Amino acid sequence: MRRALVAGNWKMHGSRASVKGLLEGLVAGVGEGLQGGDAPEIVVCPSYVHVPQALSLTADSAIEVGAQDCSHMRAGAFTGEVSAEMLADQGCKWVILGHSERRQYHDESDDLVAAKLTAAISVGLRPIVCVGETREQREAGDAEAVVGRQLAGALDEQAGLEHLVIAYEPVWAIGTGLTATPQQAQDMHAYIRRALADTEGVHADRTRILYGGSVKAGNAAELFAGNDIDGALVGGAALVVDDFKAIIDAAATVQAS
Ligand code: PEP
Repeated sequence: MRRALVAGNWKMHGSRASVKGLLEGLVAGVGEGLQGGDAPEIVVCPSYVHVPQALSLTADSAIEVGAQDCSHMRAGAFTGEVSAEMLADQGCKWVILGHSERRQYHDESDDLVAAKLTAAISVGLRPIVCVGETREQREAGDAEAVVGRQLAGALDEQAGLEHLVIAYEPVWAIGTGLTATPQQAQDMHAYIRRALADTEGVHADRTRILYGGSVKAGNAAELFAGNDIDGALVGGAALVVDDFKAIIDAAATVQAS
């Protein structure tokens, strides 16, 4: 059985005060009942500058910290970049790669996502690789082809994929309030699992596939009911303690059932 994973992508939000409030609330909220072996794994991904603060506030809790991106380069004259090694050195365990906002606003190609993945794996960061189609691509009937291409582009010829996590995030559902129906999400997750089974070095049965795109307290449980939906990558709702906690609770309930 795959352990559920709920990850919060805080994007470019937060201040020292809001990070403190959010994480103190979460640490208190995800109490002992959620810390057993079957409990969902919980990850928060603040902006780079808040990573050290987040690590210190979550130090004695079950909550792990990740980053939202990393450089594909190891070190050197790359002004403004943050390497995977720097993140691991801080104590980060996770990194989100290939988020659609990176692909859209920073022109990240599949090749660049693959290079970042290699860099992350080389220092032991656990990658959450995002894939997903735009509304136009879905309407044109190309959703699976697009997602298949993104998966192959990132994963082909990679080693060390034991801890790989995929996040299926239809671009049309991110931050829009639109959510894929549970059936649409499950269908794409099943497709992704089949594609993973054909990818060398990936244990498709063990690889967690998260859904992302306007996940909220009100729709989380029905999404998590899908056989191939192993948790969520959450944007907006991850910034509100009670909302994020309710999504974690939904994952715990489905996991226990
Ligand atoms: C995301 O940014 O990964 C995301 C899923 O955002 P939201 O939940 O706000 O749609």
